[in-house]
Amino acid sequence: MINCTKCNSENQDGSKFCINCGEKIVIETGRRRRQAPQRRETTSMTGYAEGKTPVVAGVLSLLIVGLGQFYNGDMKKGGMLLAGALVVGAITGGIVWLGLAIYSAYDAYQVADGQKALEEW
Ligand SMILES: [Zn+2]
Repeated sequence: MINCTKCNSENQDGSKFCINCGEKIVIETGRRRRQAPQRRETTSMTGYAEGKTPVVAGVLSLLIVGLGQFYNGDMKKGGMLLAGALVVGAITGGIVWLGLAIYSAYDAYQVADGQKALEEW
């Protein structure tokens, strides 16, 4: 039997409307769904570097391009920055390297600080 949510009278299983008041019968599966814990806060934090020190990340990237990204767990970005700095820096000299180092440091700082998600360019 299904109890009407409005007047609480009993209805046959599978009834679509209450025999007493005509209210639409709502099968109570929603109750189970509502019990699911809301993990929005924790899941929204995944993809972010947690527990990292922004200054350390920044300094590491200034020393070696991409190192701050590695420190943050941002392997893909760190690898691409380092590879780019090695290839382009070898051809053009120190200026591009310096530019990449500053970008890398700034990016690593923001990621470690939680302002940016990992792998967000
Ligand atoms: Zn009813």
